[in-house]
Amino acid sequence: THHGTSPRGAEASTGSWNRMRRAEVAVVGAGAAGLVAARELLREGHAVAFFEKSGRTGGTWAYDPRADADPLGRDPASPGAVHGSLYASLRTNLPRELMGFSGFPMAGRVFAGDPRAFPGHREVLAFLDAFAEESGVAARVRLRAEVLRVAPLGQGERWAVAWRGEDGEVAEEVFDAVVVCNGHCTAPLVPKIRGIDKWRGKQIHSHNYRVPEPFRDQSVVVVGFAASGIDIAAEISRVAKEVHIAARYSEDRLGKIELYQNVWMHAEIDGIQDDGRVHFAEGSAVAADTILYCTGYRYHFPFLDLDGLTVDDNRVGPLYRHVFPPKYAPNLSFVGLPFKTIIFQALELESKWVAAVLSGHTALPSEEGMMTAVREDYRRMEEAGRPKRHTHALWPEWVEYMNWLADQVGEPHLEARRRDVYDRVLKCIWSLDDRYRDRWEEEEESATVATLQRKGSI
Ligand code: FAD
Repeated sequence: THHGTSPRGAEASTGSWNRMRRAEVAVVGAGAAGLVAARELLREGHAVAFFEKSGRTGGTWAYDPRADADPLGRDPASPGAVHGSLYASLRTNLPRELMGFSGFPMAGRVFAGDPRAFPGHREVLAFLDAFAEESGVAARVRLRAEVLRVAPLGQGERWAVAWRGEDGEVAEEVFDAVVVCNGHCTAPLVPKIRGIDKWRGKQIHSHNYRVPEPFRDQSVVVVGFAASGIDIAAEISRVAKEVHIAARYSEDRLGKIELYQNVWMHAEIDGIQDDGRVHFAEGSAVAADTILYCTGYRYHFPFLDLDGLTVDDNRVGPLYRHVFPPKYAPNLSFVGLPFKTIIFQALELESKWVAAVLSGHTALPSEEGMMTAVREDYRRMEEAGRPKRHTHALWPEWVEYMNWLADQVGEPHLEARRRDVYDRVLKCIWSLDDRYRDRWEEEEESATVATLQRKGSI
């Protein structure tokens, strides 16, 4: 068969490394995911064809000052649609020690003159550029090559990839396998608000937020309370008249936020009242100029139309451990779907796993075995009361996932230090105080001094 129970799997289990399979692999997208996937595939001995639709590598991290014509960015396939979702002032929400790749750390080296622990986006892009150059994958990227269609031939032993080059010509090539790395922070997820037809103000999704200036003296409702919602609310509060955050799980801190002069926390939006005001679930209502949605993104694969693989309520499925669709495994895979984890490390582990499965170093269960595991994961989510749309949000089980991946590829488990740093960052983000980034280094330094003092070293 074309899936996991192949002779390759059997070879792997008997340890016949010399009969390793070299696959011809297409990688779709040259953001952080595609770059590390290409490195791992090449390291494992595969041949890589690397497609990137834009004019450079780096994906999300290539700041794009443009915004979509439609501020809600509803159609990511429209001509001129913008891929990037960064705002001008963006600094990472993870410290650089959590944003490198193995053998190529981001810590300990400065890439674009920004040595801060939580650098601005240019520093991350320069890091990715250096990684692409020094790992040798940059030379393999076909820029301005947009993948239009990925389709299985036969039972999926081989895959046809149709792509459009810079000259507008469409070509088709055939590969053994395709790794999808097209990024997942482009197509806005906009919740439907009851009575939104009565809303007369503006609406914009954070995908199209770049600078705070347009919100000067406005009253703004920010929907969503994840990393970017908090950062953007804090940034806007410095120019806006009022900022009202609407968020789930905010019961314990409703009301004015002490840290700020003009920021209030509310429960979820209940709906738009007849008088056009925004009504919140806790009972209050405000008149506002703009609703700014920081409500995340939806998975979108315009080049895939596959029997038995769907995106349903933001669940891409079925997928075995977020990577392999059982029906098409191992020749179709996805790198970079999970979030709420140390993303770069997850990208690398998933990439290593794909490379090792394709070569036969690691075996997958049978198609049925993978389906059973997927159903079990869904059942556990349901029991825990987690909605379907959170399928790829790993927290709170992110450590288990990372360690499980590490086991597949013979890597050590997540270091305790990295886990602790990540937990600490989450606490900082939830504190609503966006100054945590600058305090971090001072705190690190005093923690180091305290440890040395305790040990009697100083
Ligand atoms: P992308 O970077 O989006 O790359 C996808 C690439 O695929 C793009 O270059 C795109 O042009 C290309 N592509 C798409 N479709 C096609 C096609 N059909 N054919 C060819 N090429 C195609 N992560 C962190 O670790 N730390 C942070 O601090 C952090 N902050 C973030 C802040 C914001 C506002 C956002 C939006 C994300 C942030 N992230 C952060 C997450 C970020 O998404 C990941 O770090 C990482 O960039 C994801 O890489 P990717 O390769 O999966 O996707």
